[in-house]
Amino acid sequence: MNVFVVNCGSSSLKYQLIDVDTEKVIAKGLCERIGIDGKLTHKPAGKKAVEKELPMKDHKSAVSYVLEALTDQDFGVIKNLSAIDAVGHRIVHGGEKFAKSVIITDEVLEAIEECNDLAPLHNPANLIGVSACKALMPEVPMVAVFDTAFHQTMPKEAYLYGIPYEYYDRYKIRKYGFHGTSHSYVSKRLIELLGKEGKESKVIICHLGNGSSVCAVKNGVSVDTSMGFTPLDGLIMGTRSGSIDPAVVQFLANKLDCSLDEVLTILNKKSGVEGVSGVSSDFRDLDKASMEGNERAKTALDMFAYHTARYIGAYAAVMNGVDAIAFTAGIGENNSKIRKAVCDYLGYLGMEIDDLANDKKGEEIKISTDDSKVGVYVVPTNEELAIARETVELLG
Ligand code: AMP
Repeated sequence: MNVFVVNCGSSSLKYQLIDVDTEKVIAKGLCERIGIDGKLTHKPAGKKAVEKELPMKDHKSAVSYVLEALTDQDFGVIKNLSAIDAVGHRIVHGGEKFAKSVIITDEVLEAIEECNDLAPLHNPANLIGVSACKALMPEVPMVAVFDTAFHQTMPKEAYLYGIPYEYYDRYKIRKYGFHGTSHSYVSKRLIELLGKEGKESKVIICHLGNGSSVCAVKNGVSVDTSMGFTPLDGLIMGTRSGSIDPAVVQFLANKLDCSLDEVLTILNKKSGVEGVSGVSSDFRDLDKASMEGNERAKTALDMFAYHTARYIGAYAAVMNGVDAIAFTAGIGENNSKIRKAVCDYLGYLGMEIDDLANDKKGEEIKISTDDSKVGVYVVPTNEELAIARETVELLG
């Protein structure tokens, strides 16, 4: 069974065609600059990648170019569109309405649209992707997989903010959490590695990438996570500040004589390790700069490790223990220095790192010593495969 996985942004569209029986990626690619001019990068498995400038006036035309590429005589991977059995869409926000993935119907689309004001930059783009695919493949069943759904199991004490309750009632202001597909996929795998499926388990997942979040998973369900009402909350990230005193927003608006919207843009796009270091949001650049003696780059890296360790400590406390933690995503999978720096804070939990194992990059591996009281693992995430699996599971 082939599942076409679609992740639509406001001017981009990432896709993978996955054979779910073998879990192999048949082709993947990216459409960029949709609505501006348009560029398709198509990577068929076992064939040369193709790059093409194409006029993508909207997402529908982008999807039609992708479908053409998938069925092309030279660089295609399937004979015709009937080889696509289902489409899995990544949807960022499902609000409180969606605690799991759903088959897309007109009612579902309406309900997703009602969540748009919770994710005004992402959800409308995700929905455009759904209608573009529906227009071109009307008979193919489609599934919505939400970033927020995995965290709907959080208890009230974890997801409510200390503000008047009426704002939760009226406006649904609360912690939602994001990266749910990744946290779900990685925690399932970690629990499998621990041999604790169906048993009591307490694990913490550190999804550390350009966007980063930590998630506490007790007995297989999310009980707390570091991102909040939006993905701005929690850890310091590539360009996002993470949690700060909200009074800073007003103070900065006054000092800069700018709007609250502009301050939020600073907190989302010009802050984080990039803002602190003045070097880059990319940890490879920061590592290099820090090794060359750049103090602010070093401080930014120290802050990132400190904040990550702080959440792990907090989640070990609220779960009353932790069996294992997993690092995942770009930094979590590849940056051994950050992993080591985080774990160095956690010796009091009995956590001990095997430096040789920790030197490995980008592969599934246990990086704690056999004596370590808490297991530490690297588990590569695969959100597209998780979406494809969910899609098949739902469609039976
Ligand atoms: P993500 O958002 O998950 O793609 O993660 C992006 C971050 O991961 C960047 O800060 C990169 O420095 C880091 N990263 C991604 N790939 C590698 C790699 N192969 N080696 C070292 N760092 C990497």
